[in-house]
Amino acid sequence: MEKHNFSAGPCILPHEVFLEASQSILNFNDSGLSILEISHRSKDFVDVMEEARNLALELLGLEGKGYKALFLQGGASMEFLMVAYNLLEKKAAYLNTGTWSDKAIKEAKLFGDVIEVASSKEANFSYIPKGYTVPEDVDYFHCTSNNTIFGTQMKSFPATDVPVVCDMSSDIFSRQMDFSTFDLIYAGAQKNMGPAGTTLVVVKEDILGKVSRKIPSMMDYKIHIGKGSMFNTPAVFPVYVSMLTLRWLKEKGGIEAIEKENEKKATLVYSEVDLNPLFKGFAANEDRSMMNATFTLENGDLKETFDEMWKEAGIVGLNGHRSVGGYRASMYNALSMESVGTLVDVMSELERKA
Ligand code: PMP
Repeated sequence: MEKHNFSAGPCILPHEVFLEASQSILNFNDSGLSILEISHRSKDFVDVMEEARNLALELLGLEGKGYKALFLQGGASMEFLMVAYNLLEKKAAYLNTGTWSDKAIKEAKLFGDVIEVASSKEANFSYIPKGYTVPEDVDYFHCTSNNTIFGTQMKSFPATDVPVVCDMSSDIFSRQMDFSTFDLIYAGAQKNMGPAGTTLVVVKEDILGKVSRKIPSMMDYKIHIGKGSMFNTPAVFPVYVSMLTLRWLKEKGGIEAIEKENEKKATLVYSEVDLNPLFKGFAANEDRSMMNATFTLENGDLKETFDEMWKEAGIVGLNGHRSVGGYRASMYNALSMESVGTLVDVMSELERKA
């Protein structure tokens, strides 16, 4: 039976990518070798790394604008500390919009003062704070564009002269933005880009080299840039699959095209959440995420029936995170409209039955 994968991450990737990646496990580029056994220094892999780095910049519209793309390891969680290691001299400003921002703040505090410009913690992060100001004397401002757990998404970003750092782990390559307003973007691959195991970092080179502390080589963005993202053995297979996914996205028409699909999918799910009296959205309406829709059942007694119904329909990964409860429909780039239709049908079927 066909599965409809609504998992929050690792999550669905394009089927075409799985087909090509599985072929390359057996015989990569007709070399008679598996992608899993070739040297990361071989021309075949160096080409993959370069294509992945170039595609990331191209799709974000950042080519020729002083940015470099890196594929690092350690997940987005490693970037929480690498960002501070490389950029935090005295103090930094952070917007606290959820568990992941909270964790980023905790790491940054090891390196300097952290000013929390605003937080929605008191409301279990159900909205994005607004109306705050970013101090002018900080080394950088850090925010999380999409809050995977709570289903909120930043629709606008503060105008500031300080460098802007953004964790885009769960909405990178999903919507159009002027990415040149950010100085450093990072994202774990395992949502819209590829399998777990690599993290994309896109950094404007001129913000680096300004802190006085010594930085260990593996933590130093400048060293990774100097080595073409090959300072040590990169995550060969995750980088390869990310490259295939970025190629897939480019062929589909890039972010502009996928954004239209993502808008349609999100509209369908949220319309059902709003029109169906059995469900209630978790996130504030104006801050709703296009990637992760969080909602609960108004009547907990229906949980067993609903859970049985969606599982029977082939839906997987719909359970909400423990800190929100209820349900979370993650609608990443590769999720089809048909899968979203299946979920909405099950939700309306529950209304008819109840
Ligand atoms: N930031 C966000 C927005 C996330 O959703 C996650 C979890 N996927 C992380 C950071 C942590 O990522 P990782 O597990 O790659 O360290």
